[in-house]
Amino acid sequence: MAKVNRPAQPSSDRLARLRGELESYLDEISLAYYQYGAGLSERFSLRPLAEKYHHLFSPDTIRSLLDWLRDDPSPEQDFSLAQLADALLDGYISSSLAEPIEQLSHTVATMKVEVGSRRVSWLSLPALVAGEPVREKRLMISEQELAGHATLSPPRRRLWLEERRLLEELGIPSVISRTELLTPIRHEEIRRLAVTILERTERIHREELYRVADRLGVASDQLHHSDFQYLARLRELDGVFPAARMQGLMLESLRRMGIELGDLPNLSIDFTDRPSKSPRAFCVALSVPGDVRAILRPMGGYQDLSTLFHELGHLLYYGHMSPHLPLEVRRLGDSALHELYAFLLQYITAKPAWLTGIAGLDGEAVEQLMPRLRFIKRTMVRRYAAKVVYELKFHRDPELGEELAELYCHLLTSTTGFYHDPRRYLADLDQNLYSAHYLRAWVGEAQLNRYLSRQFGESWFLDPRAGELLTSWWRRGQDRTLDQFLTELGLGGVDPAPLIEELAA
Ligand SMILES: [Zn+2]
Repeated sequence: MAKVNRPAQPSSDRLARLRGELESYLDEISLAYYQYGAGLSERFSLRPLAEKYHHLFSPDTIRSLLDWLRDDPSPEQDFSLAQLADALLDGYISSSLAEPIEQLSHTVATMKVEVGSRRVSWLSLPALVAGEPVREKRLMISEQELAGHATLSPPRRRLWLEERRLLEELGIPSVISRTELLTPIRHEEIRRLAVTILERTERIHREELYRVADRLGVASDQLHHSDFQYLARLRELDGVFPAARMQGLMLESLRRMGIELGDLPNLSIDFTDRPSKSPRAFCVALSVPGDVRAILRPMGGYQDLSTLFHELGHLLYYGHMSPHLPLEVRRLGDSALHELYAFLLQYITAKPAWLTGIAGLDGEAVEQLMPRLRFIKRTMVRRYAAKVVYELKFHRDPELGEELAELYCHLLTSTTGFYHDPRRYLADLDQNLYSAHYLRAWVGEAQLNRYLSRQFGESWFLDPRAGELLTSWWRRGQDRTLDQFLTELGLGGVDPAPLIEELAA
């Protein structure tokens, strides 16, 4: 029975105007983010945008959309309105906090530290840690990074608290209720998913930690996160994957899937080295699908290559979307679906047939490499499962104080086996429970990989028919949630069994 007193839905004219303006805003903020991240500007300029789009982010508009959504939702129509509300809410928060966000990003981008006799950007420390084979030096560089996090904690804490205050003013008690209302994340479900993955991969992970510690010559209870960063960097493969080879490997892999990057002038990859370029690779759409860019600072090595393929997944997905799709389906939607394609492309580089057939490693080298790649992936997945559990607690804590720092350290250290320093408790988390999207995407990637293997064989990524199928999915954009997509394929929604099986092997 229809409810009679449901608030009036915004008129279609009003929604069309809203979409138009929101899209211009998203294009412009992406440009600002691109310029900052690509090292073309030292400032992440938010204030001019906050002023220009002030009228778009009116609390009244957001409140009326939220009221409509809270009241007896009918999924199809409401998913699209939820996307709009979510994007408006993001815009409202970043405009309201434009000044402190700008300041913090400027501080981070300009922080310098001494490493040995060199003065380097604080942002480059994780890469230095990962590349440092001498453990004492590694720990020393890591300590400098942690000291930076300690300095950044007060402004970060203020920002988190401010964001929470803004949400409360709009009648949203927490980030958890926000994501529950506006995204496909259901916090009880995601917590169960995280706990299941942790429990089912616990024993094998413990066993392997002993072997890993042994190789490093460290007691297994003394392993440090910087040791994992070093192991995950796989320096011994640097010779096989020099920076100069990245582009060729990427083009060749896509070609085998029947995709010619040269036929897609709307996509570009920025490999140029600039001193203040973000060391963390990212993909940004200045318009979708018109101008999509991946930004990397390749040092060479397997990890860089794997990151390149991850960003390539985002790039191809955005780049193939039909320009006629509504804003929600091109720009917004379920982030887990985006990360699904990013992981799908990323893990092609961890397949024996890719490593031998395309990268040219010999069979024996690949055989030795496989357990290490599995260990790295398992640690990453466990880390993110722990982050989900931590972040659910984080968003419920009113103070965001020391106790959370201790909880962060305990949860992340006990699940990964690598010490996670409490000083990172406000830094090692993304906006709006994004870790939950990653976790769902990892689960979905294992399911999709199995599906593609059944259709086209284990080496599906060497078959142009697989490329054709992927392209046909990409064209539809984000028109469904990850669950709906996996259900459509007959895989019964998000199911962790294939991922657990893979990680427990
Ligand atoms: Zn991604």
